[in-house]
Amino acid sequence: MKQPTLASSTSVYDFLFIGLGAANSLLILSLYKNGLFDGKTIAIIEPSRKLTDEKTFCFWSTKEEVVALNLDELVSNSWKLIEIPGITKENINSLHYHHVKGPDLTNKTKEVLSQCEVNYFQSTLDHTPTLSSNYIEVTTGGSVVRCRKVFDSRPPTFSKLQKSQSSLYQSFYGWKIKTDQPVFDTSSMVLMDFNIPQHDATQFVYVLPFESDTALVELTRFGKEILTKEEAQTILQEHVGQLGTTFEKLEEEVGVIPMHSGTLEVADYGDNWIPTGARANLLKCSTGYAFHNMAEDAILQTKALKNNQKPVRETKKSRFAFYDRLLLKILSNTPLQGKRVFETLFKKVPVSTVLKFLREKTTPSEEVFIFSKLPLKLFLTAASKDIYHQISRLPILTLPFVFTTVAILLSFLQLEFIAWGVLAIGFLSVGLAHGALDHLTSRKIKSTKQLISFVLSYLLKGALFGIVWWFSSDVALVLFLLYSAWHFGQADFKEWNLKQGWQSFLWGVILLTAILFFHVEELSGILMQIPNLSSVDLLHQIPSSELILIQVLTVSSGLILARLNRSTNLLITLIYLLMASQLSLLMAFGIYFVLQHSMNGWKHLSLGLNKQTSVMWKNALPFTVGGAGILIYFLLFAGENHIGLFFILLSCLSLPHVFSMHHFYQLTSSK
Ligand SMILES: Cc1cc2nc3c(=O)[nH]c(=O)nc-3n(C[C@H](O)[C@H](O)[C@H](O)COP(=O)(O)OP(=O)(O)OC[C@H]3O[C@@H](n4cnc5c(N)ncnc54)[C@H](O)[C@@H]3O)c2cc1C
Repeated sequence: MKQPTLASSTSVYDFLFIGLGAANSLLILSLYKNGLFDGKTIAIIEPSRKLTDEKTFCFWSTKEEVVALNLDELVSNSWKLIEIPGITKENINSLHYHHVKGPDLTNKTKEVLSQCEVNYFQSTLDHTPTLSSNYIEVTTGGSVVRCRKVFDSRPPTFSKLQKSQSSLYQSFYGWKIKTDQPVFDTSSMVLMDFNIPQHDATQFVYVLPFESDTALVELTRFGKEILTKEEAQTILQEHVGQLGTTFEKLEEEVGVIPMHSGTLEVADYGDNWIPTGARANLLKCSTGYAFHNMAEDAILQTKALKNNQKPVRETKKSRFAFYDRLLLKILSNTPLQGKRVFETLFKKVPVSTVLKFLREKTTPSEEVFIFSKLPLKLFLTAASKDIYHQISRLPILTLPFVFTTVAILLSFLQLEFIAWGVLAIGFLSVGLAHGALDHLTSRKIKSTKQLISFVLSYLLKGALFGIVWWFSSDVALVLFLLYSAWHFGQADFKEWNLKQGWQSFLWGVILLTAILFFHVEELSGILMQIPNLSSVDLLHQIPSSELILIQVLTVSSGLILARLNRSTNLLITLIYLLMASQLSLLMAFGIYFVLQHSMNGWKHLSLGLNKQTSVMWKNALPFTVGGAGILIYFLLFAGENHIGLFFILLSCLSLPHVFSMHHFYQLTSSK
C-alpha cells in the first residue's frame, strides 16, 4: 500500500470515507472501477483496528444483476434452490441466493486503495463538521481533515419510538463447520428452519452449504433480547447433532442488527455530505438485509459523480414501511406468532414471490395475494392499531377538512345520514364530553361537598343566563354569539400557538360569521323558533347585495388575519368553512364544533390535566350522560319550538363552560 502523502492539515482531500464497512467498501470499488479516483486524494476515518469484515453477506438476484452490481468477482457461492424444512424446497426461478465473504470484500477494497493516494485516520469523528464554500472540515483524533465530498457510514441513531413503531434485535450466532460425512445438499440453502425452541422470541436456523461437508449453520433470533452465546451454542449443538455426524468448528459468526421501525436521526450537512449504508436507511428493518441495496446505491452514487449530478435516492414506498411496522409490531408484541407467520407464508406463497416482496419489488395486487394468505386476525389487529396511530398523529385540522370533503360527496350521493351518524358519535364522545370535564379544570375540588358546590354554581351561571333570555332574547343572543366567538377563537389560537387577544376574538367572530352568514335562510328558520326575538326581522331585511358584502368582508378579514399571523391553519379552517357552505347549517357548525373545537379542547385538557383519553371519558361520563339526557329531552319533548329551546339551553350550558375553559387556559399558559 502506498504511504500517505497528505499529512498536512491544510490539504483538501477529494473524498473522505467515514467508516470502512460494507457500504463504503462497495462504493470505493465502484468509484475506482469507473476511474473516479484517478488523480484524486482520499481520506478514511475508521476507528476499528480490525480492517477485515468477518461478516457473511447474502443477497438474492439474477446472474445479470450480479454483474451489473459489480459483484461477480465477489460472489463465492450461489444457490438456485431454497428450502424451508418441513414446508418447501423450491427453485427460485431466475433468481439465485448469493454469498459474499466479508474478508473478500475487505481484501478487494484494500487492494484497490493501495493503488490510490489514501490517508487513514484510525479514530472516530469528533464534533459537528464545519462547512465552508470550498470544503468541509472535520476533526478526528486531534487531526483536522478537510475534504470536498464525504461518504458517512457511521451507525445511525433513531428518534424516540412512536406508539406504532417497534424496536427489536436480529441477533445471530453461527458456526462454519466441517463434518465427517457429506451431509449437506449443496444445491439448496436453508433460509429458515423453525424446528428449534422459540424461547419467547422468533428463532430459526439458517444453513449455507458451501460443500457437501462444509456449511455455515447459524441461529437467528428476532426478539427484544439479544441471543446469548450459551443459549445459541446449546441450540446449535442439538440441531447440528441431528445431522448424525461428528463435526469440527472452523469459524464463528456473531452479530446483531437493529430491527427498528423508527425514524433515523441523521443530520443534514448539505449535498456534499452523503450518508451511506445503514445510515442511509438502506438496511431493511424487518429482514436485516442491506447488501443488495448498498451495491445498488454504490452504482447510483458513481453515476451521479460521473455526471456531476446530485444523486437522487428512491424514497421508500410508504406501503412497505407500513408492512415493516406491522411485522415488527407482531414480532414485538406476540413473538411466538413469528414462527406461525413465516411458516404460513412459505406454505402458501412461492418463495420467489416472498423474496420479491422482501426486496420491495412486488405490485399492490401481489401484496394483496400475500397478505390474504397470512393469519388474517393477527395482521388486521396490527393494521387497525397502526392506522389509528397514524391518524391520531395527523394535525387535528386534517379531520374537519377531510370530513367536509367527504360530507359534500355524501350529500351528492344522498347519503348524508352517514355524516350525521359520525358527527353524532363525535358529539357524544368528544363534543359533550369535553364540556363535561369542567369540574376538573378548576383544580380545587377535593371533596363531594366541593363537587356539589361546583355543580350548583355551574348550573346557577347557566340559569342566570336563562334569565337574560327571559328578559331579552335579543340581548342574550348577542351575548351568546360574543362569548362563543371569544371561546372558539381562544381555543383555536391556543392550538395554533398564536397570541391571544383581540385577534383571537376577531377570528372567533369571523368563523361564526362564515358559518352563519353563508346559511342565512336556515339561520333565520332557527332564530324564528326562539321566542320574542325581534332581531330575526333584521336578518330577513338584509338585501342580498349587503349579504354578499358581509360574506366578502368575512372572507377577506379571515385572509388578512391568516396573513398577519402567517397561519396556514387559519387559512385551512377558512377554506373548509367555505366549502361547508354547501352543507346544511347544522352540519357545517357540527363539523367545526365537534371535529375542530372539541377535539382541540380535548387535547388541551388531556395535556393540561395530564390524563389519558380513557380516564377522561370515565371522569366525564356522569356529566356527559346528564347533558345528553337534557338535550334529548328537549329535542324529543319540547314541542314545536324545540330547535329554538335547544339553542337557548345550549347557550346556558355553554356560558359556564366558557368561563371554566378561559380559567383553564390562563392557568395552563401561565405554567
Ligand atoms: C454479522 C452481520 C451479518 C450480516 N449479514 C448480512 C447479509 O447476509 N445480507 C445483507 O444484506 N445484510 C447483512 N447484514 C446487514 C448489513 O449488510 C451490514 O450491517 C453492513 O455491514 C452494513 O454496512 P454499513 O457500511 O452501513 O455498516 P458497517 O459495515 O457496520 O460499517 C460501518 C463502519 O463505521 C465504523 N464506525 C463506527 N462508528 C464510527 C465513527 N464514529 N467514526 C468513524 N467510523 C465509525 C465502523 O467501525 C464500521 O467499520 C449483516 C450484518 C451483520 C452485523
